[in-house]
Amino acid sequence: MTWYPDLGPIDFFPVADSSSLRAVGWLDSDQPFDTGPTSKDDFERLCELLVDPWHPPWTYAGYHRCDLCAYTGGPSTILFRGHTIRIGLVNLFVPSGDVLYVAPSLILHTIDSHHYRPPEEFLAAVRACPPTRSMDYKRALLAAGGRSLLRPGSMT
Ligand SMILES: [Zn+2]
Repeated sequence: MTWYPDLGPIDFFPVADSSSLRAVGWLDSDQPFDTGPTSKDDFERLCELLVDPWHPPWTYAGYHRCDLCAYTGGPSTILFRGHTIRIGLVNLFVPSGDVLYVAPSLILHTIDSHHYRPPEEFLAAVRACPPTRSMDYKRALLAAGGRSLLRPGSMT
């Protein structure tokens, strides 16, 4: 998986303006990352958002494998408290004010199995994030600069 430092800019998506995007959880085995406990409630909230995440209409950005796993590349599905989440294909966009965090679905696995600890400001945004198919979410997404994600390479 392409590595980006937590809370840094991310140019993974071919859009004209990615200035509001902040990377979270784009880990690589050659790069240090924060570890520590993430609460079960925060983990479950992430699971809920990743059951049916919003995604740009024009692409699926490729399959992410876990670089921290020695041999398997990590799981393709995670089951937690009745939620079934497919891992590796999609990303989660979490709007917060004028910032749009983007985390790979693999973040569930790296928290669960590799003790990765996402930044607190991201977890706060996750707690406040409306359901991904709601109008509130779409409004927050657009306010956070998400409009540029609607069309690849377009100026907004
Ligand atoms: Zn792994």
